Amino acid sequence: MPTLNYSLIDIPFNCRHTCWFCGEPSSTTIEFPDSSNVTASLSHPLLSLPTCQECGSFKYPRHIRSVWVLRSHIKQTLITKYTKHLAVGENWTEEELKQSEFSGAILGGFGKSAWQMYLIAKQRVAYQGWGLSVDDQPLEILDDTSSFEFNGVKYPSLDACIDFLVDGSGIDRELLTQLVEIVTPTRFSYALQISKLHKRPSMTKRQQIIDEITLQEIESQQIQNDKHTLLHINSSIVDVEISGATAPAFAIQWAMSKRANTLAKLCTLEDDFFDEFAHLGGAASFHAYHGLQLYLQAREDSSWVEKQDPNLEVWLTHQLI
Ligand SMILES: [Zn+2]
Repeated sequence: MPTLNYSLIDIPFNCRHTCWFCGEPSSTTIEFPDSSNVTASLSHPLLSLPTCQECGSFKYPRHIRSVWVLRSHIKQTLITKYTKHLAVGENWTEEELKQSEFSGAILGGFGKSAWQMYLIAKQRVAYQGWGLSVDDQPLEILDDTSSFEFNGVKYPSLDACIDFLVDGSGIDRELLTQLVEIVTPTRFSYALQISKLHKRPSMTKRQQIIDEITLQEIESQQIQNDKHTLLHINSSIVDVEISGATAPAFAIQWAMSKRANTLAKLCTLEDDFFDEFAHLGGAASFHAYHGLQLYLQAREDSSWVEKQDPNLEVWLTHQLI
């Protein structure tokens, strides 16, 4: 058998003795692909990469064709192996762990170092390696692994992330998977939150939750659409300065959408207003509401409206006068 020519990847000075896959100290190299499995379909040169003992020892399937897929596979193996440690972080905060040491009951055999082990395992999975090059020639290898990032950890895929969370915590895989489909992966933590509230649901219960969230999503989509329409129509609304306060455009727009064209009507909707703008924080929503009150009060004087209301036209278009 001819000797194969593996190229050792360039190793930056500050990364010498570092595992390219997980960032732990390296003690060996991995030759990829394995000499018994070199095929023409490999998308890059034969590579030799520094690894730690552990990453280097993982078996990988023969069909792996690029170093990125290999990396993905090794991370997945790390996740599976360290699920227990990683799940500590998912289920417990450091504070809770410390407290549980006093009671000694919750963690049992896990011992004092659970949090430390969690941090190390998490770091290893999250570690990104360094840019690949050989003899200072960067390797342009297309990264074809579709990874998914959640809570600072990069998983090889969305499914891998779900697998990990399910393994670690008694969450229902089916429920979490379906919820993520409904609310989309960008709101993964929301789906996870709901799944955590309903561990091991019955089939009926699961369906109930899914129906509920589906409906909720449809409704909020409609609200978004309405808001969008409103924003579109009312782009001409401007802030109004009045008696040293400001009625901001968004608050005026909100009042129009609720058909609150008088102070009295606004007062009946006070709670709605603070619910709607709770995300602004107490002080900001209070100032906005106060400005809106003064503005609607001023609008009770028709001559003020005619002479000074910059939004007169918009109110007219909404037939709110
Ligand atoms: Zn390693």
